[in-house]
Amino acid sequence: MDIEKKFIETIKKYKLLNKKDKVVVAMSGGKDSIAVLYLLKKFEYKVQALMIDLNFGKWSEKNLNNAKLFCNQIDVKLKVVNVKKELKYEMDLIQKILKNKKNLSRCYVCGIIKKWLLNKWARKLKADKIATGHNLDDECQSVLMNFLKGNISNGINTGPKTGGNNKLNFIQRIKPLFYIPENEIKKYIEKKQFNILYKKCPYAVETYRVEIRNWMKSISDNEKLKVVSGWQKVIPKLKIKKIKKIQKCNICKEFCSGDICSACKIIKECI
Ligand code: AMP
Ligand code: ZN
Repeated sequence: MDIEKKFIETIKKYKLLNKKDKVVVAMSGGKDSIAVLYLLKKFEYKVQALMIDLNFGKWSEKNLNNAKLFCNQIDVKLKVVNVKKELKYEMDLIQKILKNKKNLSRCYVCGIIKKWLLNKWARKLKADKIATGHNLDDECQSVLMNFLKGNISNGINTGPKTGGNNKLNFIQRIKPLFYIPENEIKKYIEKKQFNILYKKCPYAVETYRVEIRNWMKSISDNEKLKVVSGWQKVIPKLKIKKIKKIQKCNICKEFCSGDICSACKIIKECI
């Protein structure tokens, strides 16, 4: 099946979206988020793009320029949120502080802050859904990592759609590329000849995820699909035990499972 068909099939089967929804695409400027934005626009969904500018030198500059150019080409609005303007500190500095004080990895810190800013800004843009470019390879990496690290329960809340609670202002996240292998997305996008930087983030090196990604070169796309869909089939059977109290962060009022959300904990360490 080609990727356009798989994309639409995933949206329909898992009820990710309808044509009335306003969907904000979390845009990194890379091939996966470009593919999501392109396909949602092509199939006439109400889309807008939202990019968090991380100020990681030339890599960020190129991705930002590519995103601007692409959104302009397909006539989609792009909102750019700059980390330094939002938080008064560069992402690089926040990462260094948290590494020193709490021994947290760059990718963990960046992931938490990005997610927090995306949710906050998607709400300001009145989005019904946030779409990300996570693909089958990303999901397979996550399942394998959780197993190999013994953090299996971390994967309980994964799926083509997650979250979504209007009372708590938590916008639903959708992943229309959830069952599509990275390889197929790459080929599809390369054919279109869009301006895209295929290089991964310069700081995402020597993490456990990178090790798993390298190891995954030895398994087929079909095996990746089995890992991910196998895990998805198990989740409903485990859900009964997973009742986490959901509340609002005392500081920022964003959705979280404790008194203070992970993003505010990180920001507090920098003050
Ligand atoms: P990554 O964790 O870098 O593989 O990115 C996974 C998904 O998160 C991407 O496909 C995007 O949808 C989203 N994303 C990553 N970086 C950014 C960013 N700087 N701004 C907005 N969304 C992003
Ligand atoms: Zn908070």
